[in-house]
Amino acid sequence: MRSDDAPVAERARTPAGGASVTPDVSPGASRQCTPCVQPVYALCTGCEAPKPSNYWPAAARAPQRRNTRRTVPLRGMLTCGAGLATSIAMTRSLPTPRGALTADRPLDSLTWLRVGGPADWLFQPADQDDLALFLRDLNPAIPVFAMGVGSNLIVRDGGIRGVVIRLGRGFNAIEFSDDDVVTAGAAALDAHVARKAADQGLDLTFLRTIPGSIGGAVRMNAGCYGSYMADHLIDATIVTRSGETLTLTPDDLQFAYRQSELPEGSVITRARLRAGRDAPADLHARMEDQLARRDASQPTRERSAGSTFRNPAGFSSTGRDDDTHDLKAWKLIDAAGLRGHRLGGAQMSEKHPNFLLNADNATAADLEALGELVRDRVRADSGHELQWEVIRVGMSASN
Ligand SMILES: Cc1cc2nc3c(=O)[nH]c(=O)nc-3n(C[C@H](O)[C@H](O)[C@H](O)COP(=O)(O)OP(=O)(O)OC[C@H]3O[C@@H](n4cnc5c(N)ncnc54)[C@H](O)[C@@H]3O)c2cc1C
Repeated sequence: MRSDDAPVAERARTPAGGASVTPDVSPGASRQCTPCVQPVYALCTGCEAPKPSNYWPAAARAPQRRNTRRTVPLRGMLTCGAGLATSIAMTRSLPTPRGALTADRPLDSLTWLRVGGPADWLFQPADQDDLALFLRDLNPAIPVFAMGVGSNLIVRDGGIRGVVIRLGRGFNAIEFSDDDVVTAGAAALDAHVARKAADQGLDLTFLRTIPGSIGGAVRMNAGCYGSYMADHLIDATIVTRSGETLTLTPDDLQFAYRQSELPEGSVITRARLRAGRDAPADLHARMEDQLARRDASQPTRERSAGSTFRNPAGFSSTGRDDDTHDLKAWKLIDAAGLRGHRLGGAQMSEKHPNFLLNADNATAADLEALGELVRDRVRADSGHELQWEVIRVGMSASN
């Protein structure tokens, strides 16, 4: 696993510093494996020394009392919390849900960058109850990672250990109420929600050009042209890692620039958004204008994950004429001479230097290495420390 330089808050929400889906905080996180002295969250596969009977964290030891459903075996790998990547095959039981549960599912086709190794398991729940029961009955030691439509992800070439959850049908309803509230399932696409809302005279136009899902938009506090999810969210429904359904307010989510705080391993299933009113024709015209502006300035038809690095504080895009570009990430990258720079199959876009592209069969390792090279050169050139906006998850191929 590689170390991550993201801020602590980001590391806490990006499982194991973006290196894998191993939770930072979990039952047994404070325990250590006596033989290899690594922090252990579940079971240490980094050494094969015999473990005392009280070695396993209580939660992992507990019998699956409530799971009366049929189970299927998991052949996956868990590693020490500190990142020791040595692993052994192990067998665990997974609940059998009504939705689709697929073993060794390659994730490259599910990400915009078209990179990423397999998930041990990909779970596509049938509906909210299916998701809640599955998480309730899933061994707490097994890591869970929720993904949206992969428009802000680099999944590393070695894939993701544990269960990846991807919502689909059953989570994409969009409903409107008289008080100008839009309720959207987490799997609904941002663009679709924006268009449907505009038909009703409701202004969620800022979502029109963001290619993700509502779940990803809440998680990332997605925004553009001066509006953010935080400006509209009334509350979000989540299913926690233990299968509880909770409603979180913006205060609970602690929105900040391109981030929010969620309980580890939880899945957003629905969001209620408040929208202003305007004439449908005007809203649709505004969205057309935004699409044209995007196409003019960004490589919208190439494989990317949008902006690679966060703009330094105070320099996010407002879309206004007085928008200042002096310290935008693209400007720093351009100034360091990296517009169009290539490494393997990865490239910084010629059109928008903060867009990292899969230009020619890049691996996740190519993309991440180019991103790190950019950070090094920008630091040397301007003294600015660029922070990744793209979420990096999973294991590198060498682990
Ligand atoms: C061409 C392009 C342009 C873009 N422009 C913008 C822009 O203008 N503004 C902007 O903010 N972003 C932009 N992005 C980035 C991206 O679209 C957003 O971050 C989006 O909100 C990610 O949503 P997603 O469904 O793809 O999430 P993913 O990329 O799949 O996941 C992103 C994060 O959200 C979490 N997540 C996703 N769904 C859930 C869920 N249901 N429950 C819990 N956690 C979840 C994942 O764990 C991960 O941490 C752009 C991307 C591209 C490719």
